[in-house]
Amino acid sequence: MLDRSTIWPYEDGELGEFYYQRYSHPAGAEAERALGELEGGHALLFPSGSGATTALLLTLLEPGKTLALANDAYYGTGTLVRMLERWGIRLVEFDQTGAPPEDADLVWVEAPSNPLLTMPDLEAAAAYPAPVVCDSTAATPVYLRPLEQGADFVLHSATKFLGGHHDLLLGAVVCKGREDYERLLELRSRTGIVAAPDAAWLLRRSLKTLAVRVERQTATAKELARRLEADPAVERVRYPGFGGLMSFDVAGGAEAARQVETSTKLIKNATSLGGVESVLETRGRWESGRVPDSLVRLSVGLEDVEELWTDLEQAIGDA
Ligand code: PLP
Repeated sequence: MLDRSTIWPYEDGELGEFYYQRYSHPAGAEAERALGELEGGHALLFPSGSGATTALLLTLLEPGKTLALANDAYYGTGTLVRMLERWGIRLVEFDQTGAPPEDADLVWVEAPSNPLLTMPDLEAAAAYPAPVVCDSTAATPVYLRPLEQGADFVLHSATKFLGGHHDLLLGAVVCKGREDYERLLELRSRTGIVAAPDAAWLLRRSLKTLAVRVERQTATAKELARRLEADPAVERVRYPGFGGLMSFDVAGGAEAARQVETSTKLIKNATSLGGVESVLETRGRWESGRVPDSLVRLSVGLEDVEELWTDLEQAIGDA
């Protein structure tokens, strides 16, 4: 049963496990327990991945502190950090396939990066003296458990593969240490950046099918990546070998890429990723200059691989 209460009675005049929704609620606590188990840490939910990022930055940084951010991390993360620069947070960007730059107070990597699909050197990041955050949205705990590889925090846009159905907006942070968890929980409770029970309940539902979904998405994505690589109209395919996210560059530049994204029928021309329905889009519309104009990002869903290939082939053939 989904409990949407904002209050629960005290027990013999004392606070029980739940008393006011801003602090914690049953659906949230249950989803956090499940995700914490999957990642091997202490999980906290937030209303979106960006909300989780905001909460983490506000908890771990202060004026004058420097964040070292992977230069190909999700463009929204960099945009958000730049907004916080007027509160004195400093940003340096680095190539996450190597070691972080010196003198950062927090290191932020993404596994794999969206949409260039590079993997961070987690060993080099873990050897760094500052805390390490790994945005593991596209990897999911099925393929990577960053806390076991030296990261201090895992971040998820649970809107993506964890939620998996394009029907919930949610974020999560999983902390390795109990003290960090307590600090983040305090900030969440005070700022009110709290996930709603409905979204938390949907996440709990979705986690039950996470492994079967992403394993099937991986099998299909591997096959599509192989066929795209062999297609003369495709200049480059980026796929890390696991997960449902990939990107490819279409020969013919921005115009050809736009033709591809508007020509698919089964695959929806939409943003986001990680759902059971395949979506694709050119990323130049969002982050021109950071990615090639010919880049198309594809999030592979659960449709039949042959039907997906037929759709992609005709769209690329039209371009
Ligand atoms: N991190 C990654 C890797 C993402 O792809 C996204 C969204 O696209 C976010 C964080 C932000 O998550 P949300 O859209 O849930 O705020």
